[in-house]
Amino acid sequence: MKINLIDILWLSLKLILGALIIFLFGKNLSSNQKLIYFVVVFIGVHVVFFIIGWLGRKYDKTHPLFPECENGKEIIKYLRSVESGQIFICECRDEYFFERPHSFKARRILKVDNNGSLTPYLIRHPFRKWEKDTSE
Ligand SMILES: [Zn+2]
Repeated sequence: MKINLIDILWLSLKLILGALIIFLFGKNLSSNQKLIYFVVVFIGVHVVFFIIGWLGRKYDKTHPLFPECENGKEIIKYLRSVESGQIFICECRDEYFFERPHSFKARRILKVDNNGSLTPYLIRHPFRKWEKDTSE
């Protein structure tokens, strides 16, 4: 198992969180009780993080950041940045323009046609799935 800086930071955060909870709520506990309490909180924090991670992965699966292209292939590669967004390329080498998201507004993907013009492709409203963009 490889341990990186992020793991150490997370561990410290969890330890601090556990200690903080003991400090706030454990004033009347004996030191043995504090230790047990700390272990329980420490495990509890892990369980909570695990559930959040699991829900996050589940959410990513049904609400992927990168949907499939028009031919059902993966959009795989970042190509370049333009002023109002980024261009990505799919497995069949078509280009898609990801509009720079404005917070809490819909995200849009437009297909870059051979002549460089943009056709609306997909749109995703906050907390919704990608759907066909029917706007002009
Ligand atoms: Zn494609």
